[in-house]
Amino acid sequence: MTSRYEEISSNLAIVQEKIEGAAKLAQRMRDEITLIAVTKTFPVSDVHILASLNIHEYGENRDGDAVPKASAVPGIWHFQGQIQSNKLKSIASWADVIHSLDELRHIAALDKVSAARIGVFLQVSLDGAQGRGGAQPSDLSELADAVISSANLDLMGLMAVAPLDVKSDEAFEKLATIYAKFKASYPEAKFLSAGMSNDFESAIIHGATHIRVGSSILGSRPSAQ
Ligand SMILES: *Cc1c(COP(=O)(O)O)cnc(C)c1O
Repeated sequence: MTSRYEEISSNLAIVQEKIEGAAKLAQRMRDEITLIAVTKTFPVSDVHILASLNIHEYGENRDGDAVPKASAVPGIWHFQGQIQSNKLKSIASWADVIHSLDELRHIAALDKVSAARIGVFLQVSLDGAQGRGGAQPSDLSELADAVISSANLDLMGLMAVAPLDVKSDEAFEKLATIYAKFKASYPEAKFLSAGMSNDFESAIIHGATHIRVGSSILGSRPSAQ
């Protein structure tokens, strides 16, 4: 029987190899790309294993699940789930980075409850349908201005999830165009959060600096989350 350590370790090695391959193909440096291990639904023991494998950035979608894990394992903790206003204060207590901000009122509320600095990615919708969250591209500058004039939030960049019915290359090419335009106005937005287990290589080709990978490293989750 293979141990959980061996399972995660060998999955991680495959993911790392693919990251290197995609970076090489895109003529980018490997160290431009941050791997966030998405630990949602998995136990804290898995996070300890990841830490022992030198992975120190973790992603969670639910505040309640994240609190005990983030307090048990030091690292850089990312929140990429749907935002509920009443959870923002708690999220701000453990998250170093939030990837899923797409509303003005949440930016204002987050700024108010943050005790420490928080990095912020603005989530942009690539299909206009809001199905997977995200602001319309035309609303980004208003959101970015709010982040910049906040007291506690740092604008890191844009985040997107590829629509389910579009080829990932097409989706991320569109994202790259939106991001280039955005970055021209907001040069401090140095980062692009895109790519999950089934499309992170494509995201890297199109400029992602932060990829959020769960199931390829930790295995499939019991329910769609
Ligand atoms: C769950 C989730 C991920 C990781 O998904 P995998 O397919 O397991 O890699 C990445 N980003 C977001 C926004 C997620 O909800």
